[in-house]
Amino acid sequence: MRESIGKSAAKSKLAVLLWPIFAFLLLAGYPASAKAQTPFEGMDRNSDGQLSRSEFRGPQRAFKRLDRNKDGYISRHEASGTRLSGDARRPKQSEKKAPPTASSELIYVDTHNHLVGPRKMGELHLEKSARIALVAMDATGVRINLLMPMPQTVNQKHKLYFEDLLPIIERYPGRFAALGGGGSLNVMIQQVIREGHVTERMEKEFDDRASELVRKGAVGFGEMTAEHFSMTEKHPYEAAPPDHPLFLRLADLAARYNLPIDLHMEAIPEEMPMPPRFKSPPNPRTLTPNMEAFSRLLSHNREAKIIWVHLGWDNTGKRTIALTRKLLAENPNLYVSIRIASGMRQRKVVNPTFPLAEDGRLKPEWLALFQEFPDRFLLGSDEIIKPADDHPSAGSIRSTVSLLDQFPPKLKARIGYENAYGLYKLKK
Ligand SMILES: [Zn+2]
Repeated sequence: MRESIGKSAAKSKLAVLLWPIFAFLLLAGYPASAKAQTPFEGMDRNSDGQLSRSEFRGPQRAFKRLDRNKDGYISRHEASGTRLSGDARRPKQSEKKAPPTASSELIYVDTHNHLVGPRKMGELHLEKSARIALVAMDATGVRINLLMPMPQTVNQKHKLYFEDLLPIIERYPGRFAALGGGGSLNVMIQQVIREGHVTERMEKEFDDRASELVRKGAVGFGEMTAEHFSMTEKHPYEAAPPDHPLFLRLADLAARYNLPIDLHMEAIPEEMPMPPRFKSPPNPRTLTPNMEAFSRLLSHNREAKIIWVHLGWDNTGKRTIALTRKLLAENPNLYVSIRIASGMRQRKVVNPTFPLAEDGRLKPEWLALFQEFPDRFLLGSDEIIKPADDHPSAGSIRSTVSLLDQFPPKLKARIGYENAYGLYKLKK
């Protein structure tokens, strides 16, 4: 009896010792196209952002150790900092060689990114994340990076406000600017939806905050959201009708101050079930259509410029070329920012609504759309830059900006920077 226990202990000890080698072999065995994958992504066959016991290809003992909350899944959060997230293998952003897009000239404008960092004594420390961003910007020719707080909701634990970004903007003049509202205006909309009605007091608070953001130098209102799926526990589900009275009010404020609105919204042309790769709850089982309400927001005030963000990061499969073309044709005040997230192809989002084919080439039908509306598209990488540089979106500035290499020169200039300079009235 004792002997057999000893044997099985020795066996599992061996398995744990061999685990790094196993993880390495697993990686090395991947085809060249999937090289950027982390072991986590390689094992996550259904791409739901977590590993079940059957997906996990290491020893059971390692599974038990990694599944810290014992819910039967290894989440991305639990995997971060371990070999699963590629931390032992993947070079840090700052160590990566510049891709062929490297430009000696800094000309481009990336209109959508997030910096995060630890909060100590009430102050958010974003310096390290900012330096990581600058390395990627210098390597890809991005001169100006527009930062913004994520679209946050009521009672969210880790809040980030426009004001938190100001020290970084001051420290690196001409390299960063910021949008505001994700930590305030968006939260107010969520608050009002919970309360069921808009009070005069709330309208005033909303107007006051908008004017405060303008006074403090915000270049736009964002990140706002009308439909935001929850991907992890920390990432809330948020929805608001795009024609909610406060969204219409925001359009009027945007027009008054001549600042664009940066809007995150999954496309739901008709009622549909939540795609099964997202957990319900917190996500709803059925999704409410939002495209008609979006058209009402766009037509409410034509002086309000609205950027529908994350083209290329379509989670309903409904953000088609036809839908985008129709909206752009009908709404001269609509703009669209493109996100080609790092690891996107590996995350199996290759589908008709993703602009790149499996070999990484831009699909001609998407290029045709960009050429049809050359002054309506922008870059918006949506990279969440952490001090450890290990967020799943790491590398997205590089992958998004490298899309420009597939554009003819005039279109490259328009989408790469000219449209953004005009829309955001940035200093040349
Ligand atoms: Zn977003």
